[in-house]
Order: sequence, then structure tokens, then C-alpha cells
Amino acid sequence: MNSAAVIGAGITGLTAAYRLAKQGWQVTVFEAAREVGGLASGYRGGDWDWPLERFYHHLFASDSHMRGLVDEIGFGSRLFFRRPVTAQWWEGKTYPLDSPGAVLRFPGVPLADRVRFGGAVAYLRFLCRDWRKLEKSTAAGWCRRAMGDRAYQALMRPLLEGKFGEHYEEVNTAWLWARFRARTPQLGYFEGGFQAFADALAAAARRQGSRILTGQVIEQVRQDPDGRWSIETAEGVQTFDAVLSTTSPGTLAKMAPELPASYLDRVRKLRSLGAIVLTIALDRPLSPQVYWLNVPKPRFPFLALVEHTNFIEPQHYGGVHLVYCGDYIPVEHEYFKLSADEILERFLPALRDVNPQFSREWVKGWWMHREPYAQPVVSLNHSKNIPPIASPLAGLYWASMSQVYPWDRGTNFAVEIGEMAAAEMIRARPPAG
Ligand SMILES: Cc1cc2nc3c(=O)[nH]c(=O)nc-3n(C[C@H](O)[C@H](O)[C@H](O)COP(=O)(O)OP(=O)(O)OC[C@H]3O[C@@H](n4cnc5c(N)ncnc54)[C@H](O)[C@@H]3O)c2cc1C
Repeated sequence: MNSAAVIGAGITGLTAAYRLAKQGWQVTVFEAAREVGGLASGYRGGDWDWPLERFYHHLFASDSHMRGLVDEIGFGSRLFFRRPVTAQWWEGKTYPLDSPGAVLRFPGVPLADRVRFGGAVAYLRFLCRDWRKLEKSTAAGWCRRAMGDRAYQALMRPLLEGKFGEHYEEVNTAWLWARFRARTPQLGYFEGGFQAFADALAAAARRQGSRILTGQVIEQVRQDPDGRWSIETAEGVQTFDAVLSTTSPGTLAKMAPELPASYLDRVRKLRSLGAIVLTIALDRPLSPQVYWLNVPKPRFPFLALVEHTNFIEPQHYGGVHLVYCGDYIPVEHEYFKLSADEILERFLPALRDVNPQFSREWVKGWWMHREPYAQPVVSLNHSKNIPPIASPLAGLYWASMSQVYPWDRGTNFAVEIGEMAAAEMIRARPPAG
């Protein structure tokens, strides 16, 4: 029987473990955290029925890999879709921007530029089929040419700058193409949140025979002279036919220093940003109905204000209203050093820019979550920079958000790349006989 170690019980690792075990592999998953789910995992405040994601999460109706897997593991009845309001903050007001009509009504740019903006988005979303030609230009340059400078400055630059910080002018147009193409106004969520889905996927992998061990940090993987892979674990050294790492590029490079320099160079050149999210519990809604609000930096100290309880009822969270304030930042950013209380002091005044009535007494609690590896930065011709899932060392595989492309990383694509990794591993070691 083939055996595999999967490092990381995020959605990529759990999907790969489930697929490998289903094909008869003996799989052990090692996860550093105490719970499964990785970036999509959740936590529970005192009297909440449902856990809440550390980082805001929803699905799109077009997330076919995720929907297929959810049905396969018998979790389909727990997935539901709604159409919450997504909007942009502009000069003190919020404007929905989730339909062509809403864009045409946005007062931030003259009508002619709004029409041009709509034409450029329609080209990306419906007409352009070949993203490869788009990766040769930057999204910022393409938008300026296609939409005009005013629409770019008002509508696209805040999005790019907010998401990629100082890298915003490097990101390629294929990323933008994928973003407009994959997004739908209907957003999906699970009863019990994404943690319930991750737990169900882990249970499905276990039913197929996988072992999932949490609270286990893997420092190194080593190839033995017979080609098998040894891993130092809490239970001593264990040996496997193959290893799949689903960690960040930096962790992979440290974990497998024996990888050839040509592969390691490509891994080390991949760039990414971290994320910080402060979740604030309020005793009443901040805004009457907006779920997702893009806000401009530096006017706001963060990039997105996501009022989760305008998507999912507050009754699942003991009646409190939950507002996420999220930002993507480099790991050197001071937000990685400040305490949750200090971050609260930075972020709280901005809530009054969304609702002038907001008062500190509304605040009932807050939680801060940060991750150094949260958003890959995709620059020009990124397809040529992506290291393959099968490393040059036989039996060592790597599947991460940095290899998801041209689509923006997300749980749907974590499922897809987890399935791709498992398929490659199975192809390389077909069942005997
Ligand atoms: C702010 C934010 C918002 C997001 N919003 C959405 C959204 O709305 N919808 C959506 O679909 N996706 C969203 N995503 C993206 C989604 O969370 C990721 O694409 C997906 O969860 C990635 O899964 P993964 O398994 O590849 O990686 P991860 O979830 O990062 O899993 C990797 C796992 O490996 C473990 N690990 C790392 N090093 C080691 C080690 N040495 N030993 C053992 N274990 C280790 C980690 O603890 C982790 O559990 C969002 C992400 C962020 C940051």
C-alpha cells in the first residue's frame, strides 16, 4: 500500500488526504494548529452556536470544485447561497457596486467614464477567453488604458492598492480577469461556518482511513537513500513513500533544503502579503444592510469592512453583530507587532466614518487574527514563475496558494489544487498489479 504524509490540514491538505485515502493510500496528515481548516478555520465566542472564521469567508456560485466536493462528502444540504449587498465607500457614503445599474449610478466618476468602466469589465468578464495574453500587462496600466484614468483612480486603484499595497502596480491583468470572471453576486456559506465544512472534510478523510494529527509542527522532511521520505514527528521518525507539503513557500524552503537550487530559487522568488483581521462584536448593526464595504486607504486604516451579520443572522452568535476590519500587509508592517487592543484603538475611529452614530459603548468584544502568508502577489508573466506541484525530488510534492493561478486564491481553488496534487501522486505510484 502506498503511504503519504500530508503537511497542513487546510482545505488543500484535507482534500488531497481524502482523495489519496479514497484511492487506497495510507495517509497521515500533520497539522501545526490545534484545529483543522487552516486559513478558513474558525473560533467560537462565549455563547455562539456557530464558530466564526478568523478571516471573513464566503463562496461564489461559480465555485464548482468546492460544490462538487461538498456534495460528494454529503455536506451539500449545509451549503446555502444569498445575495448580500456589497458596496464602495466614497466621500462619506456607501454605494452598492454589485450590478451594472449600480455602477451606472455611482457618482464618483463622470457618466462617460462609468460607461467605459462597464465596457472594460464586460470585456474581462464575458468576452476575453485567453487570460495568457493579459498576464503580459499590469492591471493598473490596462485599466488606465481601457477605463480611463478617472475610473481607474476612483474604482480600481483603491482595490489594487488596498489588496497589494506597494506592489499594486505590479499585479498582472490576468489576476483581474480571473477576479471578474469567477465572482458572482450570490455568495455561499455553510451552516456552522467554514469550520463545519473543514471538520466534515476531515471526517470524510478519516472515514477513508486517513489519520489527522493536530498540534504537530513539521520542521524537516528528508529523503532516505532508498528514496522514501522520513519526517521527525511527535511520535518519532516516520517514513512515507511520498510527502505533500501545503505550507507557505518560505516554510517549504526551510523544510526541504535538499531541493535543487533551481526549484528553491523559484520558490523563494514568489512574493506574498500577510493579512490582519480585527473582528469587533457590537450590540447593534453598524450599517443597515451592507455586508462587504470596500474602503479607501489611507483614509481608512484598513481595506475592507465586512459586516458578517448582514449576511448571516446574529442569532448564531449570541445576538451580537460582527464586523470584520481587514487588511493585507507585508510581514514587516507594524500591524504585525501591535497588540489587539492597540489595533482596536487604530481601527475604531473609522467605524464612525461608516456610521456617524457609532459609539464605543456599542463594542462588546474584539478578536485579532494575523497570518504572514495570506495573499500571493502575481506579477507579469506569473505562469512562467510557478514551481510545479511535483518537485524535482521524486516523491516530494508542494501545493499552495502561490500555485493557484490565474484565479485568486480561495477555498474553491484549494480544493482544485489539492485534487491536482493527489492525482499527480497517484499517477506517479499507480496501484500494484
Ligand atoms: C483575509 C482572507 C480572506 C479570505 N477570504 C476567502 C473567501 O471569502 N472565500 C474563500 O474561498 N477563500 C478565502 N480566503 C482564502 C482561503 O482561506 C485560502 O485560499 C485557503 O484556505 C487555502 O488553503 P490551504 O490549505 O492551501 O492553505 P492554509 O489554509 O494556509 O493551510 C496550510 C496549513 O498548513 C499548516 N502548516 C503550516 N506549516 C506547517 C508545519 N511546519 N507543520 C505542520 N503544519 C503546518 C498551517 O497551520 C495550515 O493549517 C481568504 C483568505 C484570507 C487570508
